[in-house]
Amino acid sequence: MNKKLQVEAIGTGTVIDHIPAGHGVKVLDRLQVLNSDARITVGFNLPSDELGAKDIIKVEGRQFTEQEANELMLFASSATINVIEDYKVVGKFKMSMPETMTGVLACPNSNCISHNEPVRSQFSLKQGKKDVMMKCHYCEKSFSKNIVTELH
Ligand SMILES: [Zn+2]
Repeated sequence: MNKKLQVEAIGTGTVIDHIPAGHGVKVLDRLQVLNSDARITVGFNLPSDELGAKDIIKVEGRQFTEQEANELMLFASSATINVIEDYKVVGKFKMSMPETMTGVLACPNSNCISHNEPVRSQFSLKQGKKDVMMKCHYCEKSFSKNIVTELH
C-alpha cells in the first residue's frame, strides 16, 4: 500500500517529497490555504533512506512558483519540490529562505497591532545562529521560526 502511494505518478502538478514524518500535516494545511480545490494525495510515514520515515504530498494540476515553494520551507526545511509535466520531473526547487513572508503566519505577540487591524501579517526573515528568525513588521519583535510555525 505504502509502496503504491510512493510510486503512483501524476501527469501534471507538484510533488513535495522528503517531508520529515509528522510535518506533512502542517504543509497540507498551508497547501489548502493556497488552493482549496486542488486534488491532493498524501502519504504519511513512508519509508525513507535519508530520513527513516517521511511524508509525501502530491498536488495535481498545479505547479508551484518558487515563492510558494520557499514558504513551505518553513514547515519542512528538508523537503524537495518536484514540478511534474507529462509524468516527468521538469523542475526541482531547491529550498531557500524567502526574505519576507506576508499573510502566511500570525505574529506570536498577542499585543501586536496586526491582530486588531485588518492587515496581513508581515515578517522579514534572517538566518540566526540556530534557527531562522522572523521579525514582525508591525511590532518589530523577532521570533524563532519554530515559535511562529508552532502556532499553526
Ligand atoms: Zn507583531
